[in-house]
Order: sequence, then structure tokens, then C-alpha cells
Amino acid sequence: MTLLADVTTPTSTFDLGPARALSCRECGHQIPLAAEFACPQCFGPLEIAYEFGDVTRASIEAGPRSIWRYRSLLPVPSTVQEHPNTEPGLTRLIKADRLGAALGIRNLWVKDDTGNPTHSFKDRVVAVALAAARELGFTVLCCPSTGNLANAVAAAAARAGWDSVVLIPKSLEQAKVLTTAVYDGTLLAVDGNYDDVNRLATELAAEHEDWAFVNVNVRPYYAEGSKTLGYEVAEQLGWRLPEQIVVPVASGSQLTKVDKGFQEFGSLGLVEPTPYAVFGAQATGCSPVAKAFDDGHDWIQPVRPDTIARSLAIGNPADGPYVLDAVRRTGGAVGHVSDEEVVEGIRLLARTEGVFAETAGGVTVATTRKLLAEGKLDPDAETVLLITGDGLKTLDAVAGHIGPTATVPSTSAAVREALAGR
Ligand SMILES: *Cc1c(COP(=O)(O)O)cnc(C)c1O
Ligand SMILES: [Zn+2]
Repeated sequence: MTLLADVTTPTSTFDLGPARALSCRECGHQIPLAAEFACPQCFGPLEIAYEFGDVTRASIEAGPRSIWRYRSLLPVPSTVQEHPNTEPGLTRLIKADRLGAALGIRNLWVKDDTGNPTHSFKDRVVAVALAAARELGFTVLCCPSTGNLANAVAAAAARAGWDSVVLIPKSLEQAKVLTTAVYDGTLLAVDGNYDDVNRLATELAAEHEDWAFVNVNVRPYYAEGSKTLGYEVAEQLGWRLPEQIVVPVASGSQLTKVDKGFQEFGSLGLVEPTPYAVFGAQATGCSPVAKAFDDGHDWIQPVRPDTIARSLAIGNPADGPYVLDAVRRTGGAVGHVSDEEVVEGIRLLARTEGVFAETAGGVTVATTRKLLAEGKLDPDAETVLLITGDGLKTLDAVAGHIGPTATVPSTSAAVREALAGR
């Protein structure tokens, strides 16, 4: 069966599983599988065109306990499991009754992607990019990053025995610098913001033939890794789709691919194609997609980011227009919250569910609360929140807000006295 687009281009010599060609999202022009990301005719973004074979619930359930259980739906070699990798995926889906009660949502789930090897959802996209890059003949794994991608690229390259080149804005949180540097690849702190770093990466990708920039020249493959979040939510709910899902938005790739994952599962007959609404979450200090949604535009006005949610601080989001499409098509919305609300969101999730999320998770929880208050989210519909990164990476965000209840001498009398005041 063929999804996305009819494949018209002759098949390539690469073994990239069910992937058959690269297809332009804007004009539909197709080219053979390669490390290309822009359409040669119209410069639109390229996406994978597939020819899927038979995929059943049983064949997926018999697969490994990682994203590779979905390999027959991804642009990776059929031998992907035989290569060392960081094996992300199959993170826990938590029934979040206490958070649901606090927010006023009857039936709430939290997809906790902090459980991946480097503690964010980026391990999914990097694993797919590395597998495709190996098949395409690359030998160095690279990226421009707002933090989590840097961790995931450096770790995956280390485990695969590859060199890595990671570019970060020099203002990044120290935790994210150290948790990248420890893998001992090349780490370049660039004097500029993420959008500057991204431009630099695009230049370097053109100059170095053997450098695979996961989110630049192999972006079409990388992006498909986010589908596994959608697949897992559907499988873990017992092979069905939720009615609402809230997704944090940086470049917007993840949101569009979660939507694509749901659609593919529906058209492959793996789930009933029941209706669902996709919601986007941003920090006010970097909310170009939310602004376009509110203004009714189908284009994005780039912004200069200023928010503690640095992992979402992409001022010129490549997939912004496609986020707007997915959200409007499914009847969702895009909301945004202040940095204070982000911290409250982190603390609310921690105190109700025992999950410590990074700032992006705070954005998701706080935006959910706001969209409920605005009547855009339905409190009676089954809802999933994507928690995409670990709070240990962004301790600075909560540092001034929390601490010990009291500091006491080591006597029970002192403890009694301290607790009396509570
Ligand atoms: C990168 C990232 C996202 C969003 O990714 P996009 O696909 O660029 O929208 C969300 N959460 C965390 C923690 C991230 O690191
Ligand atoms: Zn095109």
C-alpha cells in the first residue's frame, strides 16, 4: 500500500526499509532517496514517500521493546537492530488521575519521554537519523541544537563509534553543555542564538560531504522518528487513538509527525480512525506559531526568543505552517504561557504525578490549563500530554522557587518546632 504520495521515482539502491523516494510537501515533486532536504523545483521541504508492506498489531508486538518495533514504518534499513544504538522508545504512558483532578480533565494520560537514554524525546529522532545516515554513507553525526538534541547526537555517536560535531548557542544551560561534552565529541559553543547556529549548520553541511546534520541534510529521515511517539501512545492505549493530544512546539516537527503517526495507524487498519484534536504548546517568549494561530494566518512571523524554555526557543520554526494545518484540520489550537506559568506547570506535574519535567514539560502542562480555561480543550475528552524532557537538565528554571522546607539542627525537638510552623 502507498501512503502520502504515489511513488513515481525509480527506486534507489539504498536499503531504507519501506521508504521509496523523497517527496516535496509543497509541489509533490519526487527525487530518489538521498541526503536532501529541499525540493529542487520549489525549495519546499522534502518528506519520505513510502510503500508499506503488511504490518499487523501482532508483528509490532513481537518486535523489540524500543522504537525498532515500528521499523517497517520507518526510513531505516531492515537490519537496523543489528547496529549499536541507544534504543530509545517504549517509554511509559501514565494514567494521570491526580494531575487530571487538579486540571479538571476527567481522563488524562502523561506520555513520559524523560525515560529515553539521554532523557528526552530527541533520542527517537536521532536513532532514525543515524540509521539512515549510515546507509546513506555518512561517517560523522552532527547537529545544531537547543540542548536536548546535542545530548542525543553526542551519545548516539559515541555508542556507534562515530565522531560527532555539535553546535550550540553559547548561552545554553550549563547542565546541557556538560551532558553533551561528557561524550567527548566535538562541541562548538557559538556566539549567537539558535537561529544563527542553524544557519551556520546549513553552511557547514554544504561544505562537508561526510557530515550528517541530523536536523538539516538528513532532516526528512530524522523527522520520521517523531512518528513513534504517536504510534506508542496508540499502542499503549490498547490500539486506539486518544481524543486530544497536547504537544510542545519548537520547530513544529514533532507535532506534525505525531499527527502523521495517528493517520498512518488509521489507514493501515492498526487502529480505528477515530477523530482526534492536536494542540500545540509554546512559551510566550517564543510563540510565533501560537501568534499565527490567533491571528488566523497560515504563515509564521519569525521572533527573537526570550524564554526559560530554551529547548523550545526556535524563533523561525521550519514546520510552523504545517503545525497550523494539522491543528486547524483536527479542530485543535495553539496556546502559549509565561515563564512563571512554565515553572508552575513543572511543579504541578511533579507534585501530582511524581514526574519531574524540564521547561518544555512545564509549557505543555501550563498550556493545557490555559486552553481548558479558554474552552478550547474539552475536559470530558480523553487527553494525552507529551512530556518530552527531564527536569534535571533545567534545574536553573526551578532553582529560585523551591528548596528545603526548613534547615534544622539534628534533634527531634527542632524538627517538631520546624513542622509546627507549617
Ligand atoms: C526539541 C524538543 C521539542 C520539540 O521539537 P520540534 O520537533 O522541533 O518541535 C519538544 N520538547 C523537547 C524537550 C525538545 O527537546
Ligand atoms: Zn517542490
